Amino acid sequence: EKEKFSVVKDLKIVTKDHKHIPILANIGTLEDIDESIHFGADGIGLLRTENQYMEQNDFPTEDELFEFYQKISERYQDKKIVVRTLDIGGDKNLSYLNIRKEANPFLGNRAIRYSLSYPALFKTQLRAILKANKHQNLSIMFPMISTIDELRQAKSILHDAISSLKEEFIEVIMPPLGIMVEVPSTAIGIEKFLKEIDFISIGTNDLIQYLFAADRMNDKVSYLYQPYNPILLKLIKDIVDKAHEFGIMVSVCGEMAANLKQAFLLIGLGIDALSMHSNVIPEIKYQFQQTYLSDLKSLANQALQLETNIEVHDLVDEYLKKLL
Ligand code: PEP
Ligand code: MG
Repeated sequence: EKEKFSVVKDLKIVTKDHKHIPILANIGTLEDIDESIHFGADGIGLLRTENQYMEQNDFPTEDELFEFYQKISERYQDKKIVVRTLDIGGDKNLSYLNIRKEANPFLGNRAIRYSLSYPALFKTQLRAILKANKHQNLSIMFPMISTIDELRQAKSILHDAISSLKEEFIEVIMPPLGIMVEVPSTAIGIEKFLKEIDFISIGTNDLIQYLFAADRMNDKVSYLYQPYNPILLKLIKDIVDKAHEFGIMVSVCGEMAANLKQAFLLIGLGIDALSMHSNVIPEIKYQFQQTYLSDLKSLANQALQLETNIEVHDLVDEYLKKLL
């Protein structure tokens, strides 16, 4: 099995009916880069940037951040890297961040909300990313966007960062800009956002948590983490259809992308690219090469007609058994 997977490791894969599916990596450290290259990632669909803030006892400086982003830009010269701005808060708290104890941290001051409440900190991160973009392979993605106002505020700080660099005679270009779709308001109202961005990535871990109102860290309600639920699948399908009307690519970077059955459904629903932990990339690539996109589309259509999580799970399970 292992050897079978390693054959496709370095290839851009296509399904049997010739649809190319980019298989990207989720990374967060420099070591992760080597791993993602080793396992044959077609690019980085999600660079988590929390680590540089969590490793130390104080905010990293612009230079420290710059160095890290530049190393990544250099290692991946010919490939694209989506840099997600700070996604702190929720379960990821830090003493020096001044986030007061909240009753519901996942509904509180996290991710883009935190960055917007500390614009100077946010600008530092954005300047570091913009400066590091020598090979013009970096994109910027904002996490947890839930309203248009947040997106506009974030963009305005990005423009400030660009102007401040220009004043220092540092020429930068505006990188492609995207948002995570992981809050139901944004998922449902996606068409209002599409005019103002270049790409989107669905964060299914949070989207499922917020859609079914079930804390992703609480075992008591983990039965509500329902990645096969047709209500979720319909929502994803609507996001994809609207985005494609605007010519915008949709990837998924939550855990669903790394689970073969769920990945099959996602591609069947029209998702353009999948981003996942590097070590599952060879297997996912291998399996997509054995399938027809047309089969996955009809599988997803059948799934949308069903009622429950378990019904869809069993449908995909049957499909997979026939395939293997
Ligand atoms: C997600 O929510 O699916 C996601 C990829 O972001 P994180 O898991 O880092 O919150
Ligand atoms: Mg998330």
